[in-house]
Amino acid sequence: EGGAEGDHVAFYSQDMNQGMQERMRIESGLRHALGNGELLLHYQPKFSIDSGKIIGAEALVRWRHPVRGLVPPAEFIPLAEATGLVVQVGEWVLEAACAQAKLWKDAGLPPIRLAVNVSAREFTSTLPGRVQDTLTRYGLEPSWLELEITESTLMNNIDRVIGIMDRITALGVTLSLDDFGTGYSSLSYLKRFPIDTLKIDRSFTIGIPADANDCAIANTIISIAQQLKHKVIAEGVETVEQLAFLKNSGCDEVQGYLFSRPLEADAFEQALRENWTP
Ligand code: C2E
Ligand code: CA
Ligand code: CA
Ligand code: CA
Repeated sequence: EGGAEGDHVAFYSQDMNQGMQERMRIESGLRHALGNGELLLHYQPKFSIDSGKIIGAEALVRWRHPVRGLVPPAEFIPLAEATGLVVQVGEWVLEAACAQAKLWKDAGLPPIRLAVNVSAREFTSTLPGRVQDTLTRYGLEPSWLELEITESTLMNNIDRVIGIMDRITALGVTLSLDDFGTGYSSLSYLKRFPIDTLKIDRSFTIGIPADANDCAIANTIISIAQQLKHKVIAEGVETVEQLAFLKNSGCDEVQGYLFSRPLEADAFEQALRENWTP
């Protein structure tokens, strides 16, 4: 009897072991990737609903793994968040995004706002200084940069978080609240955040227009944004029906496969040029 149970325990801990080994393998691979130039950014355009023009882009990290090919962030960002390595990934991403924005600026492309995802663990008192330093080094106007933060960032000491937000917006860099409505942030705090834009999560966009609840949630987020004088963008827009609904509801900006997938830098640059040619 004890034997069977012993076997079970042995299998279980072997599974755990394999899971841990897999995590350690990814972690050391990611450390190596950071030093070895294996990370890269793709850029997904953001569009103004009114003008139809590209007004910005979201930088999304990928890992060009020598064996596994192009690895999506879902396969390494959560682990990087758990281990703290996401801080170094974030440093690389901010640097690379600003370097690219500087290239586009120098190439005479129309000014856009480049959004960088910032994980909760990066949102510390050293972030504003690092942002300022990076902008200065690249001679980049702060209006070129936007930071996307998620509600998990707001779960920390709220006065501390607001202090950091204020220091970032004082630089002229804008903040948007990503995945809005999927976390636990309290509406009573929302008015205190120096936020420029609320981002409607793809999990709500996906149900538009068939799901009455998703439509109601999207409308509510748009109305909260309007009341608080924030802009509002919907991510994950894949159909013309979704676009029509969002336009009719007063959404300002959209992003999604209907318009473009995340693009390599050259392809984004070309899209930007074509988009702005009269
Ligand atoms: P997110 O910030 O919510 O980014 C949006 C994700 O939705 C991106 O996936 C994007 O490619 C995808 N997407 C955009 N439009 C559509 C659409 O119309 N349909 C569908 N099905 N998907 C769409 P991606 O690039 O795989 O990134 C996944 C997540 O990884 C991001 O979610 C973000 O949380 C995280 N991530 C990506 N880059 C970074 C980064 O540089 N730093 C940090 N901390 N996290 C990042
Ligand atoms: Ca985002
Ligand atoms: Ca998002
Ligand atoms: Ca999302």
